[in-house]
Amino acid sequence: MDNVQVAVVIPVYNEEENLPALMKRLMPVMQGLQKSFEIILIDDGSHDQSLEILKGFTGNSQVKVVELTRNYGQHAAIMAGFTITRADIIITMDADLQNPPEEIPKLVKVMEEGHYDVVGSIRKGRKDSFLRILPSKIINIVARKITGVSMRDWGCMLRAYRRSVVDRMIQCHEHATFIPALATVFAKRITEIEVNHEERYGGKSSYPLTKLINLQFDLVASFSDFPMKLIMYGGILMSFLGICFGIFLAIARLVYGAQWAAEGIFTLFAILFVFVGLQFFALGVIGEYIGRIYVEARKRPEYVIEKVHAKTD
Ligand code: UDP
Ligand code: MG
Repeated sequence: MDNVQVAVVIPVYNEEENLPALMKRLMPVMQGLQKSFEIILIDDGSHDQSLEILKGFTGNSQVKVVELTRNYGQHAAIMAGFTITRADIIITMDADLQNPPEEIPKLVKVMEEGHYDVVGSIRKGRKDSFLRILPSKIINIVARKITGVSMRDWGCMLRAYRRSVVDRMIQCHEHATFIPALATVFAKRITEIEVNHEERYGGKSSYPLTKLINLQFDLVASFSDFPMKLIMYGGILMSFLGICFGIFLAIARLVYGAQWAAEGIFTLFAILFVFVGLQFFALGVIGEYIGRIYVEARKRPEYVIEKVHAKTD
């Protein structure tokens, strides 16, 4: 299997309802490419029957199933999948059929033209709730700012990477990572094409708001020190405003007398609370970075592969 041309890497976390439909649609698409291919499915510590269903697919020698020891998160799972394949073109996608497999040939075609190292995709008519789309919008703006790459849709996992980019990505042993952003560090030429987007086929999203906020922080904190700078500038601005306000209070007391100033105490309290709140926020952000430094410093593996299930012959 040394000369595989195209690999599809799919992280799977509690997707038992979607897997049969996924394979049913993916297989004919891959066969239609008329290229050697493999499908790498990573079981990211699912609690449902996903792993059993996945193992059932390994009767086909083009399917490999990577079993992780527990849940490490979508991006770590994809990394684990990257280490298994040696294909020239590597496609990532979700297991829930929100990324239609039928779009894969489009990505492969652009990759084959040879000009681009990464082909991303923009979700046309995105089928997600407002609460899911809003954080994505913020992620897109932040990602564009900190990577300096003007991709429009960072969240869509239906993407194609060239072997060289993937090789460099798997050299990065980072716990909190965001693969589309990491790829921009190594890829010279990046483009995006439009793809369709569908409703989740079955089951529900494993990204509640808390996990999304965390992912967003992964993206920002792993690729820039922007939040720390923001705090610093915010702090400078606040002190400046504080001094101005102090001067204003002093003058007002002189002009209007002590009576006015005593009543002003309550305003001061209100302002104080705002500042205390901001301080806690700042501490939180710093703590978040220190926490992440601690995680990296321990040098635990980002994922542990229990076993690779594949047809033996
Ligand atoms: N996923 C994973 N590990 C996790 C969470 C998600 O491997 O801890 C996989 C999941 O099975 C799916 C993809 O990542 O293939 C995207 O997850 P999901 O559909 O829940 O996210 P959303 O579409 O809401 O962004
Ligand atoms: Mg999804």
